[in-house]
Amino acid sequence: MKCNICGGLMNEEETTYTLQIEDKFVMIENVPAKVCPQCGEKLFSPEVVERLQMTIWNNEKPEKTIKTLIFNYKKAV
Ligand SMILES: [Zn+2]
Repeated sequence: MKCNICGGLMNEEETTYTLQIEDKFVMIENVPAKVCPQCGEKLFSPEVVERLQMTIWNNEKPEKTIKTLIFNYKKAV
């Protein structure tokens, strides 16, 4: 399968899906996707997207929680 963006040949890989919901940052690891090695474009199948949404909206208990520290470059010393 070819990439829509750059025409590169996409690889079947496991990737991390990230999504920000209000003040929460959600990551789902080991998601099967087609990934373009040239431009980094990721494609998820409709079944995968559906399962991702269920995982997020069902508020499943996360496997782990990491802290995210956010700085503002304009305010940084
Ligand atoms: Zn590409």
